[in-house]
Amino acid sequence: MAPRLELVDVVKRFDGTAAVSGISLALAPGEFFSLLGPSGCGKSTTLAMIAGFLEPDSGDIRVDGRSVLALPPQARRIGLVFQDYAVFSKLTVAENLAFGLEVRRVRRAERRRLVSELAERLGLTPILSRRGGTLNMSEMQRVALARVLITNPELLLLDEPMSNLDAEIRGSLRGELKRIQQDLRQSVLYVTHDQIEAMSMSDRIAVMREGAILQVAGPDEIFRTPAHRFVAEFIGDPPINMLPAEVEADGSSLLARLPGDWTIPLGRAELPEGDYLLGIRPHELDLVPAPGPGTAAGTVRFLENLGAEHVLHVELGGTLVRVLSRPGSAAIGKRVHLRTQSWQNLIFDPRSGAKVPTRALGAAA
Ligand code: ATP
Repeated sequence: MAPRLELVDVVKRFDGTAAVSGISLALAPGEFFSLLGPSGCGKSTTLAMIAGFLEPDSGDIRVDGRSVLALPPQARRIGLVFQDYAVFSKLTVAENLAFGLEVRRVRRAERRRLVSELAERLGLTPILSRRGGTLNMSEMQRVALARVLITNPELLLLDEPMSNLDAEIRGSLRGELKRIQQDLRQSVLYVTHDQIEAMSMSDRIAVMREGAILQVAGPDEIFRTPAHRFVAEFIGDPPINMLPAEVEADGSSLLARLPGDWTIPLGRAELPEGDYLLGIRPHELDLVPAPGPGTAAGTVRFLENLGAEHVLHVELGGTLVRVLSRPGSAAIGKRVHLRTQSWQNLIFDPRSGAKVPTRALGAAA
């Protein structure tokens, strides 16, 4: 089966500067695929080219195996939902849903049938006669989606749809959006700078930086084996610790020297001695009562209280390391001992940022 959407080496320059510098991706039918990256990385430019509002300088964009570059936006069978939701406040929910069908000159009886069918699936039937201006955010999101879905798009493009909303409502809308997408088996390209949205809803994520895709993978793989330092640091909350490490041989195995006289045994590995960056996630660090092999001693400088957990910022030889801990396990100013549990062997080249293959590494002590 052809990918629902395919980008082949797509390039877009503005005044000679590449906003999108040769990206390729393939989205399978029914897939929830996210483009994730910081502001300015080229997400909106990519989306505008897919929707047909911008023309690429080179490369191809295909829907179901056919190039859509020559087609105007309205002929591309792509539905767009933006962050403002664009629900008409004076029209009823039913009128909002029927709007796109009227524009397409769908006959009245057919409009009624399509509106009531989709309203049923999205739980909108009880509010069909309410006006857009009276809806809460959950209803608003469903109406905005329904307005686009009713035109039966091959692909739904969602551009930061939750970025204007409060954190507490976003959590429930994420679950709802995912449920609707799965129920309808709708192919979705979701554009966001919010890693939690991408991680919680996507089948796969493309992480973008400076107009390029650094990695395409499922949420687990993105989290566990980031291909680049940037991906490791962009994903995960609290963020990963990225520590300078001198790797040297110790007989037939290797060890890493970290700030604060911390030495971590790396086991046997084919890794040249030298300077690296070691990524250790806050949940992979433990507080231990006493010093021992592979432990580090530091002082708690700051504490973030997340309720169920505390993030301790522990100073090791001038470097702050985040440690996820149980509430009450340490206080500011206290001297603590740290040990890695089963860290994920994330070693990066400090110059290129690329992950260094560490297949042969043993577990740390
Ligand atoms: P945001 O989330 O802030 O919209 P983004 O990831 O969507 O960011 P783009 O808006 O695609 O990024 O911008 C990518 C780069 O292209 C940026 O450096 C931006 O300044 C530049 N750019 C975008 N549109 C234009 C334009 N019409 N003319 C000139 N430069 C542009």
